[in-house]
Amino acid sequence: MQAKKYPAVGKCIYCGAEEYAPGSTRRFGDEHIIPDGLGGRLILPEASCKKCERITNQFETPILKGIFHVVRKQLGIPSKKKRDPDKVTYVTELNGKLQYVTVDPKDYPGIIFTYTFFRPRILDGQPLLDDIIGCGMAGGGIEGLNWELPPEWFQGGTISLPPIRKDASALNLMRMLAKIAHSFAVAEGKIQSVRPLLLPLILGDDLKHAWHYVGGTYEEKPPRTDELFAMFLKDEVSPDGKRYLVADIRLYSHISGMPRYLVVIGEYPSDLLRCEP
Ligand SMILES: [Zn+2]
Repeated sequence: MQAKKYPAVGKCIYCGAEEYAPGSTRRFGDEHIIPDGLGGRLILPEASCKKCERITNQFETPILKGIFHVVRKQLGIPSKKKRDPDKVTYVTELNGKLQYVTVDPKDYPGIIFTYTFFRPRILDGQPLLDDIIGCGMAGGGIEGLNWELPPEWFQGGTISLPPIRKDASALNLMRMLAKIAHSFAVAEGKIQSVRPLLLPLILGDDLKHAWHYVGGTYEEKPPRTDELFAMFLKDEVSPDGKRYLVADIRLYSHISGMPRYLVVIGEYPSDLLRCEP
């Protein structure tokens, strides 16, 4: 995907705030539709208030520093923070002692593990259920890097791939995908056509129904692409006859094995509601 700067919004695309912060005249924060830290180059200027910036950072940061921590360095994605070290550290337990080993990213196995999801339930006309996230793991292998784990990793017992972060959760990845999909629909001028469905998940007001709206194509192994990302919007009709605006998102789709995500952004108004003469 090419770098693109969309027209400025001038209000918060998540909560609707008309000021960056209460009483502030500062302009709204620019939104990187795909996070800057992943190398995303689609920018929606002046689109997020201070409060929502904090909320979206809270779920993006664990995913960038968890799932994507090593691969970002291996791909040479520049980091905004100078303190973010170029090396990566892994932990092994040898004879009951934890050892921290720091290596160059290119000497670290070129493997990325991420979550893969079933289809969003809403697209199959399923009822709203609480607390269910169906996910699996997908592994991708980076071309040109060693895919094997170093033998010393197996000597002493357990190994943790760095950095293990419990908050690099499926739910946080789903919220990041929801944010990408919603902001992309705003940028592309599509959000006005639908009743938006993702805001309670993005803002943390409803975390129980993530899988209803955010999912993927669990078993499909999509082909790798030349670009780092592949993303487009499409319409889908569910078996119960409702029409939805859906984002099809692939992150680091140039790495073989990376999954496809489907995110249901909004529902089109029903034709039945239209007054017929
Ligand atoms: Zn806001």
